[in-house]
Amino acid sequence: MTDLGFPLAILAELTHRCPLQCPYCSNPLALEAASAELSTAEWKAVIAEAADLGALQIHFSGGEPTARRDLEELVAAAAAAGLYTNLITAGVLLSRERLAALAEAGLDHVQLSFQDSEAAGCDRIGGYKGGFEKKLDCARWTVELGLPLTLNMVVHRQNLEHLPEMLALAEELQARRVEIAHVQYYGWAYLNRAALMPTREQLEDATAVVEAARERLKGVLVIDYVVPDYYARRPKSCMGGWGRQFLNISPAGKVLPCHAAESITKLTFDRVQEKSLREIWEHSPAFNAYRGTDWMPEPCRSCERKEIDWGGCRCQAFALTGEAGTIDPACALSPLHDALQALATTESATDEGSFTYRSRKAGEAAERLPERIDS
Ligand code: SF4
Ligand code: SF4
Repeated sequence: MTDLGFPLAILAELTHRCPLQCPYCSNPLALEAASAELSTAEWKAVIAEAADLGALQIHFSGGEPTARRDLEELVAAAAAAGLYTNLITAGVLLSRERLAALAEAGLDHVQLSFQDSEAAGCDRIGGYKGGFEKKLDCARWTVELGLPLTLNMVVHRQNLEHLPEMLALAEELQARRVEIAHVQYYGWAYLNRAALMPTREQLEDATAVVEAARERLKGVLVIDYVVPDYYARRPKSCMGGWGRQFLNISPAGKVLPCHAAESITKLTFDRVQEKSLREIWEHSPAFNAYRGTDWMPEPCRSCERKEIDWGGCRCQAFALTGEAGTIDPACALSPLHDALQALATTESATDEGSFTYRSRKAGEAAERLPERIDS
């Protein structure tokens, strides 16, 4: 396995607990219970193994990672192991003192999510009253403590009209970077697809706003932009290729090639309690299932882009077709591509406005996902 490389970054999902209930949350519908979470000692062992494997960065995520009382201890362990540490947070549970303690423990970077540019939308979409004001505090404290700040803005039909204000907010809060990410449709977002899908006009307007802002804010604010696959002609290089650069560890210790991989219900995932991270990275059937190009069917197998986009997103292919080992329908060369674009157009025109919010109960009740495009 000498050419396998190593995971550059580890996403440590410390918990699925979260006070927010975003309808596009990337956590699985079946949320893991607090009682199943890895202990502090288990997480520290995983962090040491990740560093030993060659990882350079660790992203502490969730759920809401600050719901873990041992976060400072885990950040300190990661910093001591030489990893660059990033906290991905909704910000509503943090106090200035806690943030200062995390900085003291070695935290390198804060990535703070906003669900909209103003209180009403932010609190409604996140399902958490008073969240917006707390996020503003969190952003200010981050900058005051000298930590680099990135804002995460997930955009969709119900907040895209505020995109200029989102960018202005990032500027006002002195973020160094803002990620404008259109919703990616698996898990909770797949369930809420009709309420979230933007129109093609909204997408085109948003792209123009981002391009103009990039020009205007050059040297001040870096703007990352993730477009929605359903309207694309070629898929994204999801995770830089399956099992090539990333691994994700769930709160209960499942090791996944990406945060959405559990949506591929045909796969089973090894756990850190049972095998070493190295063994899982190198030999786990789930990691090897779609690694490289050998698994690819035509037209990907003969395509010049096969080592650029790696055939697109496996989770999206599974969600839309029931088969993860097929070409991503986001690609115009897929026989299902036209059907996908028609579906996006139809759903973007619905007047569906209400969300199924993320909760354990809603996840258990969600037996039926929206239709696949081959059915
Ligand atoms: S996306 Fe929303 S609900 Fe999901 S973990 Fe983040 S803040 Fe919580
Ligand atoms: S055919 Fe496959 S490899 Fe080629 S662009 Fe489409 S998804 Fe990518």
